[in-house]
Amino acid sequence: MMVVMKKDYSPQELQAVLDHLEEGGLSGHKIIGVERTVIGVVGQIYPELSDELRAFPGVDGTVPISKPYKLASRELKPDDTVVKVGNVEIGNGSTVVIAGQCSVDTPEQMMATAQAVKAAGGHLLRGGAFKPRSSPHAFRGLVDEGLRILAEAGAAYNLPTVSEVMDPRDVEIVAEHVDLLQIGTRNAQNYYLLDEVGNCNKPVLLKRGMACSVEEWLLCAEYVLARGNQQVILCERGIRTFETATRNTLDLSAVPVVQLASHLPVIVDPSHATGRPDLVLPLSLAGIAAGANGVLVEMHPNPEHALSDGQQSLSPAAFAEYAARVRDLVHWTGKTVS
Ligand code: PEP
Ligand code: MN
Repeated sequence: MMVVMKKDYSPQELQAVLDHLEEGGLSGHKIIGVERTVIGVVGQIYPELSDELRAFPGVDGTVPISKPYKLASRELKPDDTVVKVGNVEIGNGSTVVIAGQCSVDTPEQMMATAQAVKAAGGHLLRGGAFKPRSSPHAFRGLVDEGLRILAEAGAAYNLPTVSEVMDPRDVEIVAEHVDLLQIGTRNAQNYYLLDEVGNCNKPVLLKRGMACSVEEWLLCAEYVLARGNQQVILCERGIRTFETATRNTLDLSAVPVVQLASHLPVIVDPSHATGRPDLVLPLSLAGIAAGANGVLVEMHPNPEHALSDGQQSLSPAAFAEYAARVRDLVHWTGKTVS
């Protein structure tokens, strides 16, 4: 349910509503929009609540939210959410390029990657330290050491960083070292993990579960929002289908579908969607043309020696060419590259 405040409500009147909700075991999420201030109410809503709230001075009315995801919905918040990662804004109409290694390996390679991302005009540096691998025998990441290497490379080139967290127990250490916490496709519905990143004060990049419907994906975001963390970026990274020509199937229709349904920014990851470097550019262009707020791409100084996902990673030279082509398209869409 959404409580719409009167235009001239006072802070005390707003607080009285929030207190009443808390007494009823509910939580109220204040959203100050361009037009109106509203309160999103979540929890076990009881039948008399609407009448009770409408009796409060300062309250204009209540409106039910039809979607199962309440806080993530545009019904509650018509204005786009802009997520700030370090000094980079995502969702403000510009197109953000996130690039870097699948997994962090040596400090030298990570520095070379950061240098290449910066030189090509990329905005955020990625590097996995905790790696979810399909096989337990594969390289599973440098963990804490990987976080330090990534943080140093990001700092050296003034690039905010993003890295995956897989376990609620690691949220604190990952949040200490990086600017954006990634939830991978395999953990998209790990609800305890979503609770935990919802409790922290760092933005979250929430990949779509490879078997999640759009509604289920938005409900995953709802877990984070419900804990009070409003800084969520969604990432379409391909879903499982019968098609085997690509690693996954990039669901491009999800981009505008999500943007109509939700105020959260959406980016696309053509690297994991396709598993092929030659498809990274065309699907990035398609994603941006469909309205995505950015792209996430894997690149490595020596793709053939990468410890994971080298087969889909761009070389620095290919990435520079890629970034230039992305900029060309962005120019034609009338957006900016930041
Ligand atoms: C990754 O970003 O390296 C990764 C493992 O992605 P996904 O969770 O989309 O497979
Ligand atoms: Mn990868």
